[in-house]
Amino acid sequence: MMSQGLVIMSYVVACILFILSLSGLSNQETARRGNYYGMIGMAIAIIATVFSASVNAYITLVIALTIGGFIGSKAALKVEMTQMPELVALMHSLVGMAAVLVGYANFIDHSSSLVGIEQTIHQVEIYVGIFIGAVTFSGSVIAFGKLCGKVSGKPVLLPARHLLNLSLLILTIWLGNIFLSATETGGGTFALILMTLIAIAFGIHMVMAIGGADMPVVVSMLNSYSGWAAAATGFMLSNDLLIVTGALVGSSGAILSYIMCRAMNRHFLSVIAGGFGSVGGGKAATVEGEVSAIEIDETVQLLTDAKNIMIIPGYGMAVAQAQHTVNEITKLLRSKGKAVRFGIHPVAGRMPGHMNVLLAEAKIPYDIVFEMDEINQDFPKVDVTIVIGANDIVNPSALDDPNSPIAGMPVLECWNSVTTIVLKRSMATGYAGVGNPLFVHEKTRMLFGDANDSLQAVLKALNA
Ligand code: NDP
Repeated sequence: MMSQGLVIMSYVVACILFILSLSGLSNQETARRGNYYGMIGMAIAIIATVFSASVNAYITLVIALTIGGFIGSKAALKVEMTQMPELVALMHSLVGMAAVLVGYANFIDHSSSLVGIEQTIHQVEIYVGIFIGAVTFSGSVIAFGKLCGKVSGKPVLLPARHLLNLSLLILTIWLGNIFLSATETGGGTFALILMTLIAIAFGIHMVMAIGGADMPVVVSMLNSYSGWAAAATGFMLSNDLLIVTGALVGSSGAILSYIMCRAMNRHFLSVIAGGFGSVGGGKAATVEGEVSAIEIDETVQLLTDAKNIMIIPGYGMAVAQAQHTVNEITKLLRSKGKAVRFGIHPVAGRMPGHMNVLLAEAKIPYDIVFEMDEINQDFPKVDVTIVIGANDIVNPSALDDPNSPIAGMPVLECWNSVTTIVLKRSMATGYAGVGNPLFVHEKTRMLFGDANDSLQAVLKALNA
């Protein structure tokens, strides 16, 4: 058993490691180190908690850790990189569920010696913790469904939805008042259960109302909510480490949501209100025009003649796992004296930083990877742009069709380069489900097929 002083010391060390971890994760060069800090911090936190005076049911704990550890490691080993966003959404739902369960356990537990104002504060912690946890839980389950295609990506917009949200919020506050008065006489169960159901409905409604292309903001927002849910759990359990860690996750998630909102040209507050992805209101324009396909040999010829090449990776690169072939081609083209750069859209792929992770995994040098804002004005000087499995992030209708579901979202303006080669398997739409005029643009050539197969063929021909 650890002394209380040692537990507190361990918690302080874990907190410092978590902060170092977050700062490490903010940069690609230090991200690996950041992960290690986080892992060591979590190990210290778990050991200190397990051996602290507040834990004594070791048999239950070992059984729970074994089952949880088994399921977690199985899922992590099995999950494909493309399913990572879904896994993250599921994890968030578990944090929410944990907050709800801890809240109910605290409510049922009558062994607490708290009285007067301290008891009231504790009841408020329980009420707020369960509310945040339930919203996080149901919202994350719907986000999981939307990300893996089990729930439609189309926004479900109920009539007077903002009024509905406001009424639910007022009802929650009113029930909170009833709950606090009732707990003084040992009651409050009904108000608590009703509020939980309302919070679950609120989470479902909030995420259902979000349109396909706006999901990135929801993913980072639920990340933030899960942090606040963990902090609320920390308050209920009087665990300082959980409060600090939850606040770190909550605030960094909120900052990320804000950055994603800016990248997508959306307002942060309207995201929180839900259903903000429904711009325009009219019907999006249909895409008409002739598709000009290209074969491998002509692609190779264009690359051989080009001096300035831009590569835009998208979700399809993750599906095809083409990043290693992309790295081989990049090395080869650079060895022939060509300038090769990567343009990364903030919402490319299915989770924040998705493309950066893949490019780092393939060991593509960081100094040729650029954010959208850094390179968007350079396209007129680019000879060939290769779009690898990207669609929504290079859709010109975001800029010129006010009725498009992605209207207003800044995109990579690759059509300004001399030639754009798009690698994809068909004319299918991307995540947002909108047609893309880039594919019929006069300067665009379509290289149909699995991105990795096509790039392997290009690499072979370039080497020949
Ligand atoms: P998109 O989903 O718009 O397009 C991906 C394209 O890849 C598809 O059109 C598909 O076409 C193609 N593709 C799929 N598999 C392959 C393959 N094996 N080989 C070649 N091509 C393939 O992806 P983008 O990255 O352009 O945009 C991301 C979208 O996801 C945005 O709408 C964003 O809002 C959303 N989103 C982003 C999140 C984030 O945090 N980054 C989270 C949730 C959603 P085809 O089938 O014809 O091959």
